[in-house]
Amino acid sequence: MTHPALPGHPHIAYRGDALFIEDVRVDDLAQAHGTPLFVYSQASMQAALAAYQRGFAGRKLQVCYAMKANSSLAVLQFFARQGCGFDIVSGGELERVVAAGGDVRKVIFSGVGKTRAEMLQALQAGILCFNVESEAELEVLSEVATASGHTAPVSIRVNPNVDPKTHPYISTGLKGNKFGVAHERTLAVYQRAAALPGLQVVGIDFHIGSQITEATPYLDATDRLLDLVQEIEAAGIPIHHIDFGGGLGINYNGDTPPTADALWMQLLAKIDARGYGDRQFMIEPGRSLVGNAGLCVAEVLYLKPGEEKNFCIIDAAMNDLPRPAMYQAFHGIVPLQQAGDAAAPVYDVVGPVCESGDWIGRDRALAVQPGDRLAVLSAGAYCMSMSSNYNTRGRAAEVLVDGPRAHLIRERETAQDTFQGERLL
Ligand code: PLP
Repeated sequence: MTHPALPGHPHIAYRGDALFIEDVRVDDLAQAHGTPLFVYSQASMQAALAAYQRGFAGRKLQVCYAMKANSSLAVLQFFARQGCGFDIVSGGELERVVAAGGDVRKVIFSGVGKTRAEMLQALQAGILCFNVESEAELEVLSEVATASGHTAPVSIRVNPNVDPKTHPYISTGLKGNKFGVAHERTLAVYQRAAALPGLQVVGIDFHIGSQITEATPYLDATDRLLDLVQEIEAAGIPIHHIDFGGGLGINYNGDTPPTADALWMQLLAKIDARGYGDRQFMIEPGRSLVGNAGLCVAEVLYLKPGEEKNFCIIDAAMNDLPRPAMYQAFHGIVPLQQAGDAAAPVYDVVGPVCESGDWIGRDRALAVQPGDRLAVLSAGAYCMSMSSNYNTRGRAAEVLVDGPRAHLIRERETAQDTFQGERLL
């Protein structure tokens, strides 16, 4: 018997009344490991990566997983084993790649504020490319490389001034954003890069934002990027690779982003038409590889009826699931055990943290009692990696499911873990 998957979550489904992720009953995991608990489906990550690989079939492609989306070591290890490189934004992320057994020669280093120490660390490790975000950074990178006897491979991140039509906090390719070099300055910056002693130009890149649900912003940005490749190469500076960043959205709440293969077939048709189809391509997807592979299990602590609102207080909070508080983001919330058809009361689902911003879902109809468990969906990206110890709450445990097997990939943090390294006066 097949079980219809939850919309957007191909490997999460009810079997009878019980929620399963792949072949594992989610409640069994909660009983074994406690809550809050993050659970990821390996098959979902694999399927999401395969969609990109299908889209680029027959092309030269390096996927650099944007590990900020979920940088847990076992997740990195999984992508490394699939041949992925990594898009990193700090020296700490580089150390994680090494700890997970990733190939540093497939690492690209993005970010507007790389320190000299981080540049040196990445040069010594021998990364693939620095995605440089400003003219000032270019000068410093050249200095650091020259002083340490290295040549830094560089790509300039172009800000194409294209509206990705997403939340302002995750839109990055507009003139008012802090990211990348203005389109109009790009040629001059490449000329400077080619003239500086410690650098070698290898590529060009953009990343226009995150949770993008339409193809048009990518098509517009690609056109603008290819105009630049033409100009830069006409000025005698060869561009070896073209990097299209990440940003493809997922279905959180009925969102309908293009699938990765459909998007790339459309984009590659344009790229072919302009004569650049045989280049080395790079992409930096994060959310679309892991977001809907994960859920966060929480237990209902209290139901609190109110005059204006009913509250369902759970044991996961904004420190575990920061996206609602940060971006008013939506996560689906479903019970681990489905109840009958009785009309369910409507609740705001909130955590125990002492902030009114500590909400996980608003106005949700839920037939639950204290002690029941819920799954917060779409929790594979930008949840654990953004989590904190606010209110001295230890970070949750994490489990990776592969068919019928479940691997504990992160132990729950204890209170002692959270203040390790602190000193009394
Ligand atoms: N590349 C860069 C430079 C980014 O800043 C980000 C995310 O902010 C990504 C890739 C990944 O974006 P997403 O997770 O939306 O695919």
